[in-house]
Amino acid sequence: MSDKVPYLDLPAQIRSVRKELDAVIARTLDNCSFCLGPDVAQFEKDFARFVGAQHCVAFNSGTSALHVALLLLDIKPGDEVISTPYTFVATSWAISYVGATPVYVDVEDGTMNLDPKLLERAITSKTKAVMPVHLYGQPFDIDPVLEICRKHKLPLVEDTAQSHAAKYKGKIVGTFGEMSCFSFYPGKNLGACGEGGALVTNNAEFARRARSLREHGSTVRYYHDEVGFNYRMEGIQGAVLGVKLPHLQKWTNERRRVAHRYHELLKDTPLQLPFEAAYAESAYHLYVVRDPQRDKLKEHLDANGVGCALHYPVPLHLQKCYASLGHKAGDFPVAEKAANQCLSLPVYPELTDAQIQRVVAVIKEFFAR
Ligand SMILES: *Cc1c(COP(=O)(O)O)cnc(C)c1O
Repeated sequence: MSDKVPYLDLPAQIRSVRKELDAVIARTLDNCSFCLGPDVAQFEKDFARFVGAQHCVAFNSGTSALHVALLLLDIKPGDEVISTPYTFVATSWAISYVGATPVYVDVEDGTMNLDPKLLERAITSKTKAVMPVHLYGQPFDIDPVLEICRKHKLPLVEDTAQSHAAKYKGKIVGTFGEMSCFSFYPGKNLGACGEGGALVTNNAEFARRARSLREHGSTVRYYHDEVGFNYRMEGIQGAVLGVKLPHLQKWTNERRRVAHRYHELLKDTPLQLPFEAAYAESAYHLYVVRDPQRDKLKEHLDANGVGCALHYPVPLHLQKCYASLGHKAGDFPVAEKAANQCLSLPVYPELTDAQIQRVVAVIKEFFAR
């Protein structure tokens, strides 16, 4: 009972595909397609097909893809974009990068995703887009959000950075809004060997302009139609993602196996377990339990060699970087409570049943004290 369980075991995932990775990385070294190139182009096609979308534009990060999504919607200083305060900060970075103001809507207590019941009252004449997050791998409740977006003629952008292969009412997320943005950061459900991201859309004009914006605002080399960026995906990352994508569905199934095993083994503990909504098939990017004694429980897990993490300890409206928004504690009480109670347990395809039982035993030991 003394084996350590790492919070994340990326080396195990890399080992499982190491031969194929070595081969495609060697091929990239041979052909020197380091920036974009044929492997990135192929991955774009394959990933678009996986999501069920017409276009995928690969980026050097999910943050860059989110930034470009808001540029495509011509969002400008003075505009407002509605999002959630309970997410990784990059969701809001995109809003700030275009000079707009993030307007937060609190989350639901069960899913910790944007609460559709609170959405409409946050809309003003300055609102230009709605950008919720499929947090922890679980889709937000898309239909009521879309209904409000349509009523107010607002585009929906999905932050799908944590939810590759997650399903809403049986359909993979990423094509419900005007655009969706994925991250291939190494720890994400589909991860590069470095940074990566993608913008997925069914809008050909958005895809065309996104390709231009990621490459210095040009479609013909050295002719620049607008101020652009160097947001290109690296050739090696396209090759790596091409190796990993065929494993994604199997890996997602394994994540769900781990989650369901936790549900089963932890159900008679005082922990509040992740709630999978009836409309959702979560991709379990994270398995986040909640407890009022979170800090002590984390100490106990750390001391016993069980890796865990906090997603997220401080909601965005209380972050120093957003002090200028003028929010105070109490403004988004559900998000704040979640931030105080959340604890992410190890969840990855390679996690064995013995490791799951070890995590559970250490948790039960804590509550038996
Ligand atoms: C990881 C993440 C991002 C940013 O992706 P990067 O590839 O790290 O830039 C954006 N939003 C959410 C919700 C994320 O989890």
